[in-house]
Formats: sequence, C-alpha cells, structure tokens
Amino acid sequence: MNRIYMDNAATTPIHSEVLTEMMPVLTTDFGNPNSLHSFGREAKRYVDVARSRIAKALGCDDNEIYFTSGATESNNWAITGLAKANRHKGNHIITSKIEHPSILETCKKLEREGYRVTYLDVDEMGMVRIDQLLHYLSADTILISIMAANNEVGTIQNLQAIANIAKEKNVIFHTDATQAVGAINLNVHEMGIDALSLSGHKLNGPKGVGALYVHNGVVITPFMNGGEQEFGLRAGTSNVAGIVGLGKAVEINTRDIITNSKKLRTLRDYFIREVTKNIDMTYLNGHPIQRLPNNVNLSFGMVDGESLMCMLDLEGIAVSTGSACSSGSVETSHVLQAMGIAPDLAQGAVRFSLSKDITKEEIDYVVSKLVECVEKLRKISAMTKSQVGKED
Ligand code: PMP
Repeated sequence: MNRIYMDNAATTPIHSEVLTEMMPVLTTDFGNPNSLHSFGREAKRYVDVARSRIAKALGCDDNEIYFTSGATESNNWAITGLAKANRHKGNHIITSKIEHPSILETCKKLEREGYRVTYLDVDEMGMVRIDQLLHYLSADTILISIMAANNEVGTIQNLQAIANIAKEKNVIFHTDATQAVGAINLNVHEMGIDALSLSGHKLNGPKGVGALYVHNGVVITPFMNGGEQEFGLRAGTSNVAGIVGLGKAVEINTRDIITNSKKLRTLRDYFIREVTKNIDMTYLNGHPIQRLPNNVNLSFGMVDGESLMCMLDLEGIAVSTGSACSSGSVETSHVLQAMGIAPDLAQGAVRFSLSKDITKEEIDYVVSKLVECVEKLRKISAMTKSQVGKED
C-alpha cells in the first residue's frame, strides 16, 4: 500500500542535503569540539558553521545562538532562565492559552515557585488578544512569551505588534517559533524579538536537536551545569551531527522559503476547497489567511476525529487529531477549547499538515478517502443515535 504522510507538524523526514552534511560527522569527523587537537578543532568548525547558518537565517549574531536538545528544552530554558535572571525586576509573566505544553507546564511550575502568570485568551481564529496583553501588562511584568505559529491550527500571530509592545514596556519577548522557522520569514533583530526557540525535526532536520536564540544583553540563567559548552550556559558534549543537520536544515528552508510556501499555499487551499465542497458540515479551524502554508485543521460534524484518524491510517494516510488521548479518555484540545470551538466539533477535528513534496494526485486521493470514511462514520453515528433513542 502506498502511504501518504500528512503529519509534518509532528515531524518531518530528513532532507537528503542535510543527511549528506551529517554523514562525515557520524563517521570520519567524529571529534569532540572541546578537544584541543585537530579532531576537536575540526568538530568545532562544524559547530561554528551551523551556528553561523542559523544566525544568518534568523538575522542575529552567531554568539546569540545556543544549541539544545530540541524546542521542549529551548522553551523550558527560555521561560525559567529568563524569569529567574530577571526576578529582581518583577515576577509577572504573560503567555497565551494556546502555547505548547513545554511553555504551559513550565509556567505552571513557576507559578508554584511564586511567579504570577497571565494566560491570554485567543479569538475564534486563534489570534492572541492584543487588547488583553495591553491590559495585563504591569510594572512587575518581566517576560512575554507568545508562539509565532500554532502547531494545531496553524494560526500565525501578529509577532511584530507584540514585539513592539514588549519593547515599549521594556519587557523581554520570547517566541516559540518551532512551527514557524523555515515557513515564514523572521528577522529577530529587525523585529525586536529577544528570544526564540526552534527545533530540527520540524524542518527536515534531525530529531533531538534545537536551538535557543537570546539577544546579547538579555540575561538568562544557565540551563545545564557542567562544562563550558554553549558559552557556559548549556553544558554537555555537543550533539555535533545533530547540530550540523539543524544548521543545514535551517539554511535550506530559509533558502527555499518563497518557492515552498507558494507551492504549499496553493495545495493547502485546493485541499480545503475540495474537502469543504465534497463533505458537508466541514469547518476550517484557525485563521483563514494568516495561517501556516502547510496547515489544514478541519472539524467534521457528527464525526469523531480519533475514529477518522484510525480509518485513514488503515488506508495508509497519516494525520493527527486535535485531541489527545490520555489514560483511555479523549481530552479536548486546549487550543480548540481556547478558541471556543464547540466540544462536539473539537472532538471531530483532524490536522492535516502537508509537505512540499506532496502531489495534487495524492491530495485528490486523500479527499476521496475522506469522503468515504466520513460517510461511513456518520452512518454509524446516526445508527448509534437511533439505537440509543430506541432504548430510552
Ligand atoms: N513547540 C511547538 C509549537 C511544537 O510544535 C513542538 C513540537 N510538537 C515543540 C515546541 C516541542 O519541540 P521538540 O519536539 O523539539 O521538543
């Protein structure tokens, strides 16, 4: 069976150019960048090149990039490290209700340690309420953390407006750009972003590697204690192969951003049109225009998203749901909940995240399978309802 992967927001395959760059580091050029001999110096050069590539793509200086194990670590570090280093200035943090758990859980931990956290609402399209941001900013606000683009519904935030407000109020601004780097243009210096998290495996790089950008002059406490790696702030022998892969992946995605996003937008909008035309009671979640070029999040009325996902999987189509299954019970997505999506429609949400390599034929195939699966599920749902009615 031919399989179609439409879950690129979860992870992506490694780009062939990325793999080619990583191979020598995994084989012959295996040195430790902290060693002083030629093997070490060679490994350090690899790390330096990767750092430069990322800095160039983000529009910052090389020494503002710190390598981590991924965006979860970058987010944990950014929130705790920036909050702790600036505790003397205040204890208030502002974030949003639709952030990734690596931000939300870290904020909750800080609340238990005495910090005050405001979780901003979003509108029905997933846009953070700027009026609330202005309302809740106070003299003790030290940090604003708002994601660049949402991983579930793809809504892209008004980052520039938020950065401007943060600058004006002299508050540090961090953004989780895990889904945005390589998909939309970001220039951190020009935009006035103080800190930014990114991850390798979301942009055709390897898993288990990421980076945190922190603007020079912004103080942050170290994340790991030990050696002097990453300018003494994140100890541990560098994941050289991962770092090389990340650097190349960021470079490629930034290089190809215009071509890829144009192609993806066309396919995304075609897919949305075809599905909504062929299946009634289908609704697009997230912002209709200000959304990631590869993200389609749809709610199918009278359909359970998990069941649809499983049926599509049997057809070789990989997608993901807007709900997370925890200990047997299906929890509604915190993002769809914050957007005020009705519980039954939130339960029927499915995320399709496209890759640049997907073809129109594959999309047509997915649409035809969707039509079949949704019809089957709605029949079952109608039968179950009438059965329940009889038993009453
Ligand atoms: N933030 C966002 C918005 C994400 O989508 C993800 C990955 N799902 C993360 C953070 C965590 O990234 P990683 O897998 O690199 O830890």
